[in-house]
Amino acid sequence: MSDSFDVIVIGGGPAGYPAALRAAQNKLSVACIDEWKNRDGTNAFGGTCLNAGCIPSKALLESSELYHRAQHEFAAHGVKVQGVGIDIGQMQKRKATIVKGMTQGILGLLKAAGVTPLTGHGKLLPGRKVEFTGTDGSKKTLQAKNVVIASGSEPMPLRGVEFDGKAVVDSWGALEFEAVPKRLCVIGAGVIGLELGSVWRRLGAETVVLEALEQFLPMADGALAKEAMRHFKKLGLDIKLGAKVSEAKAGKDGIQVSYADASGTQSLTVDRLIVAIGRRPFTKDLLAEGTGVVLDAKGFVEVDDHCKTGTDGVWAVGDCVRGPMLAHKGKEEGVAVADLIAGQYGHVNYKVIPSVIYTAPEIAWVGQTEEQAKAAGRTVKTGSFPFAASGRAKAMEAGAGFCKIVSDAGSDEILGIHIIGPMAGELIAEAVLAMEYSASSEDLQRTIHAHPTLSEAVHEAALAADKRAIDIPNR
Ligand code: FAD
Ligand code: AMP
Repeated sequence: MSDSFDVIVIGGGPAGYPAALRAAQNKLSVACIDEWKNRDGTNAFGGTCLNAGCIPSKALLESSELYHRAQHEFAAHGVKVQGVGIDIGQMQKRKATIVKGMTQGILGLLKAAGVTPLTGHGKLLPGRKVEFTGTDGSKKTLQAKNVVIASGSEPMPLRGVEFDGKAVVDSWGALEFEAVPKRLCVIGAGVIGLELGSVWRRLGAETVVLEALEQFLPMADGALAKEAMRHFKKLGLDIKLGAKVSEAKAGKDGIQVSYADASGTQSLTVDRLIVAIGRRPFTKDLLAEGTGVVLDAKGFVEVDDHCKTGTDGVWAVGDCVRGPMLAHKGKEEGVAVADLIAGQYGHVNYKVIPSVIYTAPEIAWVGQTEEQAKAAGRTVKTGSFPFAASGRAKAMEAGAGFCKIVSDAGSDEILGIHIIGPMAGELIAEAVLAMEYSASSEDLQRTIHAHPTLSEAVHEAALAADKRAIDIPNR
């Protein structure tokens, strides 16, 4: 193996591996170093997303949703099912098979592209050198013209709550339960807490979600958050807002969770506790003295708008830098940096990054909420279309939720699109494309949408913004 590369990427998650692949496509010599170790001791590329995040969570969300629908929805279709049960072992096996296939796929992609995959730890040294420590402990110093840091993030721990890997777990542990807990508590009603809470609630766990903030889903449009809360309550998720957890300890009847709310100190006892209070950048043993790379007060690697650190030829992308902690944001940054290194055009439009919560109904949005647009001084017009008026959604027995568009009242520019309903995460792609091309509501209004499709809700919401909807009364 050569000791010298055009590009060395530290981290093989969804920010790092695309950077490596694009750099190789750009005819650069590339190594990608990753140290991820799974619980069975095996190493795997793919980072948090593939091994312990996006993919395994979506696998369990899908399985648990099917179980839920078989119990609560099939009868409405006239489909009779008896003795519906769950086999957690099989559910977990299926999830593990998907994860293994996908992570091995990444290794295959790297090799096929001519990237040198290196399993072990990478540490940036001064002068764009990287110390590589293999899984056997052997060390080697590599030289690079460019280094891309893509070291990701890790779950935030909560002071007063010790993880034990079994009963008190982080999001990764929550994806590995071998049985459905009878009583479950999730700390944090963010995206991860709501997805994991939904999985285990659908499978039968009595689930309480404790959230410190008084406001539910503050990052989402107010109308979406309100509708989401209604559906989570219907599912039986007991979401307590303004409930700040201070401590959890093992007692003889289970784990005792203490929290403070408006009426004082409260406690509840559960069998399993999931801590999902957010994630923090992971930069452990990443930077030697004198590299010139700076971490900010929260531990993120400091970068400019083009993901350049303060040191020439050293870049950083993904969860370890500012911006939303999302796989697709990291991927775009990785690809943009690999293009910039090759002297090509590379750019990430941070204003148009979609967010998706894969609950039922699904929640997705892009751009500004109505509240944010107004706070920014915009005069807005909005249009909403309920899925209850969508023929396709009704045929799917999925008429809950709506699509809402927020546009500038003067210029008609689309400022944000917010969807709660069936396949919202897929539907949002049209909104992202529209906003990427600076579309107006009228542009969407004049675009033909096939009938009957869920996407007609986006079309009709755009029409409703000008009180020209066809399939609902205009108010
Ligand atoms: P990571 O995926 O964390 O990858 C970093 C990699 O670098 C790891 O493999 C790590 O071991 C390795 N590494 C770190 N330091 C070193 C070093 N010094 N040497 C060698 N290797 C190193 N995002 C979405 O967009 N959609 C979702 O649906 C979604 N669901 C999620 C569900 C859960 C439960 C969780 C926890 C996260 C979810 N996320 C989701 C977030 C998503 O996983 C992250 O945004 C994404 O993984 C970040 O990518 P990354 O490459 O920056 O970091
Ligand atoms: P996210 O950052 O989207 O993953 O969401 C994490 C959520 O956890 C946020 O909504 C926080 O307000 C919430 N949170 C953080 N600390 C606590 C705590 N001690 N008790 C309850 N909720 C918390």
